[in-house]
Amino acid sequence: MPNFAEKLVESEKLYKEALDLLPGGVSSPVRAVKPFPFYTKRAIGSKIYDIDGNEYIDCCMAYGPLILGHAHPAIKEAIKEQIEKGWLYGTPIELEIKFAKLIKGLYPSIEMLRFVNSGSEATMAALRLARGFTRKKKIVKVEGSFHGAHDAVLIKAGSGATTHGIPNSAGVPEEFVANTLQVPYNDTQALADLLEKNPDVACFILEPVMGNSSLILPEESYLKEVRKITAENDVLLIFDEIITGFRLAAGGAQEYYGVKPDLTTLGKIAGGGLPCGIFGGKKEIMERIAPSGDVYQAGTFSGNPLTLSAGYAAVNFIVKEKIHDYLEKITNHVKEGVNDFSLANSLNVSADSIASMFCIYFGDKPLNYNEALKLNSALFIQFFWRLLEKGVFFPPSQYETCFMSYSHSEEDSERITEAVIECLKELL
Ligand SMILES: *Cc1c(COP(=O)(O)O)cnc(C)c1O
Repeated sequence: MPNFAEKLVESEKLYKEALDLLPGGVSSPVRAVKPFPFYTKRAIGSKIYDIDGNEYIDCCMAYGPLILGHAHPAIKEAIKEQIEKGWLYGTPIELEIKFAKLIKGLYPSIEMLRFVNSGSEATMAALRLARGFTRKKKIVKVEGSFHGAHDAVLIKAGSGATTHGIPNSAGVPEEFVANTLQVPYNDTQALADLLEKNPDVACFILEPVMGNSSLILPEESYLKEVRKITAENDVLLIFDEIITGFRLAAGGAQEYYGVKPDLTTLGKIAGGGLPCGIFGGKKEIMERIAPSGDVYQAGTFSGNPLTLSAGYAAVNFIVKEKIHDYLEKITNHVKEGVNDFSLANSLNVSADSIASMFCIYFGDKPLNYNEALKLNSALFIQFFWRLLEKGVFFPPSQYETCFMSYSHSEEDSERITEAVIECLKELL
């Protein structure tokens, strides 16, 4: 029970009601923190407010999309302007072309793309396309990586599943995942061996930086090696940049690490906070998508004006304002503050970050999923509640990543650091 339960009376009441109507009381599993989540009334900038009137500095940021912060004026204006003109047409719009050009300019690997409605949809279509294009059946993913909640990738699928102890979903027949192979992250030998034994692999899909099994960074040259091995084996390389896209750099992890995948999936930030997914890549491959090709993909809401307006405004802002240096600075501040404290007090706690993603680990910094499973996630949840009491909202799982936004001030970053350190003093 959180110490400050008396300050969360309305949230607790609502959650009891929700349990009767929504499975687990929520619309997506990771939100179901025990004993109950807080209910949000509104959010602006770096702050989120619950219905009991408590204020928190938000480091969850809706799990990644809100790189500019809540209710950012540039995005709000774009949405308002579009709403006046209607928000769904079912016909092509000029903004599809403008936005596609903007993305193509930032991601040279993306020569052609399709807009869809969620990250899950983007990876599902990208995998189908890889199979259709190569006429090979198998796909390879990384253990603990998350690519959305569809059948082919729901094995050892990262946070949502790991937090609730369901690595593999019921309802996915073995036959459906018989062609999904897995390798540990940061292990190029395992990938090379697997591809040598399996000539019928269509693609290797990975999060270039893992953000759904805590935060796991690639070792020096891992991604470059992966590019080389996949190319040598005629296996398409898919970067799932649904978190890292626009976040590590405007051009994503592929810009940051200088590696060019064959296909890329984007989402989260790309919709400016509205539901969005994008997949794209080499023209030769993308032209295989219907109606120009024989790989089917379609959607009523795909490329809808409201999402494109919000996403275009967000990406434009990111490019124009060059936000990444500032974001890295305030994120580093938290990492260094926590690491200094932990080292000085010999705590078994560490912090790491890249760009505006960071993570506090209760245990050693992991290099792959198996190592991440050794983290003390029960202790993390105690930490989560204490932190919330001090006015800082982290995602409620050791297996999620924290996000800073352009709305976070230097003072926010100092308050986060101090709150984390206070909690560590109380807990350890
Ligand atoms: C969030 C996420 C997805 C799924 O995106 P949705 O929009 O939630 O369907 C896929 N891949 C990665 C890496 C993600 O973080």
